Amino acid sequence: MTAFEQLAALCEKTYKKPVKKCTNAEIYYALLGLTKELTAGKKAITGKKKVYYISAEFLIGKLMDSNLINLGIYEDIKSGLQSIGKDLNKVEEVEPEPSLGNGGLGRLAACFLDSIASLNLPGDGIGLNYHFGLFKQVFKNKMQGAVKNDWIEDKSWLNKTSTVFTVQFGKTKVKSRLYDIDVLGYNKGVNKLHLFDIESIDESIVKKGIDFDKTDIKKNLTLFLYPDDSDEAGNLLRIYQQYFMVSSGAQLIIKELKEQGKDLHKMNQFAAIQINDTHPTMVIPELIRILTEQEGFSMDEAIKVVSKTCAYTNHTILAEALEKWPKAYLKKVVPQLIPIIEELAARVQKKYKDERVWIIDKDERVHMAHIDIHYGYSVNGVAAIHTEILKQTELAHFYNIYPKKFNNKTNGITFRRWLLSCNPELTAFLDEMIGEGYKTNANELEKLLAFKDDKKVLAKLEEIKKGKKLALCEYVKKHEKVELNPESIFDIQIKRMHEYKRQQMNALYIIHKYLEIKAGKKPERPLTFIFGAKAAPAYIIAQDVIHLLLVMQDIVNNDPKVSPYMKVLFVENYNVSYAERLIPACDISEQISLASKEASGTGNMKFMLNGAVTLGTDDGANVEIHELVGNDNIFIFGKDSDTVIKKYAMNAAGKKGYVSREIYEKDAVIKEAVDFIVGKETMKHGNKTSLTRLYNELLNKDWFMTLLDLKEYIKVKDKTFAAYEKRTKWNKMMLANIAKAGFFSSDRTIAEYNKDIWKLK
Ligand SMILES: *Cc1c(COP(=O)(O)O)cnc(C)c1O
Repeated sequence: MTAFEQLAALCEKTYKKPVKKCTNAEIYYALLGLTKELTAGKKAITGKKKVYYISAEFLIGKLMDSNLINLGIYEDIKSGLQSIGKDLNKVEEVEPEPSLGNGGLGRLAACFLDSIASLNLPGDGIGLNYHFGLFKQVFKNKMQGAVKNDWIEDKSWLNKTSTVFTVQFGKTKVKSRLYDIDVLGYNKGVNKLHLFDIESIDESIVKKGIDFDKTDIKKNLTLFLYPDDSDEAGNLLRIYQQYFMVSSGAQLIIKELKEQGKDLHKMNQFAAIQINDTHPTMVIPELIRILTEQEGFSMDEAIKVVSKTCAYTNHTILAEALEKWPKAYLKKVVPQLIPIIEELAARVQKKYKDERVWIIDKDERVHMAHIDIHYGYSVNGVAAIHTEILKQTELAHFYNIYPKKFNNKTNGITFRRWLLSCNPELTAFLDEMIGEGYKTNANELEKLLAFKDDKKVLAKLEEIKKGKKLALCEYVKKHEKVELNPESIFDIQIKRMHEYKRQQMNALYIIHKYLEIKAGKKPERPLTFIFGAKAAPAYIIAQDVIHLLLVMQDIVNNDPKVSPYMKVLFVENYNVSYAERLIPACDISEQISLASKEASGTGNMKFMLNGAVTLGTDDGANVEIHELVGNDNIFIFGKDSDTVIKKYAMNAAGKKGYVSREIYEKDAVIKEAVDFIVGKETMKHGNKTSLTRLYNELLNKDWFMTLLDLKEYIKVKDKTFAAYEKRTKWNKMMLANIAKAGFFSSDRTIAEYNKDIWKLK
């Protein structure tokens, strides 16, 4: 029986009617059941050693499409449904998207799980089962509002297990239950994503928006990812969550090793624990605590084996993002870890007089990254330039102590989701042109270069892009009530809202372009500027940038003199599903972070793979994209990272490194755009407090140097739009980007992690 025949039989049995008569929802749930059944028949991936990838976030997205692809039944189900007048895409819309992550770091963890299984490596994820995940974004009065995202349904990918652990917070004991999601490899076996949940959770304590009693740990622990930490209760809750995750995880790892009769003294031969950013750092002292208190290890023995088992990935050089918990907070939540952390700190202090490498500083704050670096065996950055900055600047004093621990693993994305699933049209064309080898060996995409002067191939790429733009137009018309022109250039910036990513610089370009058009200077072709981003609810300036962009959307789209030439769209609740629609439809990929500040980015890779051309700074993985495609196939602008780092150093030394007001006062074009933020027009459409705050921030602080690169950004962006008019040449650029994207397959990244860090097989 084919998979579709199985589905039809299942529908018949469950709903007592032929599949043709079933609703999309009915078909979805039958397909969910069938997929889970087929997955249960797949072999677990096993081996001598396993990696445990611990992460506060797993931004997995909807799973149906990926799972059908990885099971090898996608075509069969799709064409079967088509033959009875049903559309698989519509069926898949029924699936709710879990928001178990925040942005790139969480999406990376999800791509990694896919690649680990697809390379047939034993490796499980460990995280938390947040009931409402990150918030769901809703716009009201052109401002971001936040409501809960309740994604868990009776029937879902989650499998409740009988595994339960006790987690102790001082004298309080709570029960932790394990839920599993199967992670299928591409035509391979199965690993697990382990998500822990507190048994006593109470969803009803969430009242309005995302407000709840932050102190009621037994009821709130796994409600939200990254609860507001602007007060002490919020900080404590984050520590409760982190400890709950790592204690459950540590117990699971030890249980699995014991069940296999492994000697815990040789734990590092059977397990590698990858610590994704600092959130899971407490797994180090927790493992040491368990080994010394329950397994008869001496402190020396425990520290030695745990240090050989744990490895740390750094994702940021933003100082404010490197966690430093007051010791007093840790003492309130997990007093049992304090003696261990103090012991770890004392050993460091005895050895090194340089206070910058201490674990506990003079203000009694515990530096989580410092625990990872001293007591892990590997420290990796996530793009070449990022790792260099860590070694030379941010973590230089650690690099001097441990030069061998530091290594680079440039991020990647799974092509199963970011090409095969989100762009089946391009996939089918690639299959036809270069065969299917690229699906398991991404470097084979380079075979496409043989067609770089083939007019028919170039025209076909343009046609596929046009089709994806049309599909996006249809979708946003329905969901955002905005009509876009598919003949226009789609310029897209989608990513978390943060000053260092500089959406505000893009906003200033939009203001500039609006004023130009008003003054009679029309662009050669209509332009469409698309944004998607959530801002942390406590991050005020980020909220202000969202507001400015929504105000601009209102002004531009409703101005009959301007809107035929230019549109602005800020999509609501940007998430993985939205990314899967936006990315294939993009012409120009905006990657304009302040050089040195974006660790890697992965959005940039997704766009490139789908034939968008990057407009960006030499930052993060843009640098590697630039090297791969060469100057002719990318648009680079802005001050380089060395210059930016020097400016920060000068500012810190009280010298004039960067003074935004000076740039503003010297340049009429910049001044005009910045002044517009608080001009008559915006005040009529927007909120005075918010816009004035943003204006003052840009003039008086501008920590991420928006105005530094604005002038060059305007120039190079205009050049990029002009380049689009040479259609054949542009199509060649598309082709070059697709052909060179193979390096960014997360299969390559994971193979490197395995070879250099995990050594599984
Ligand atoms: C890839 C992805 C990100 C990361 O985007 P960057 O541009 O690398 O910051 C964030 N959110 C979602 C939903 C993604 O798919």
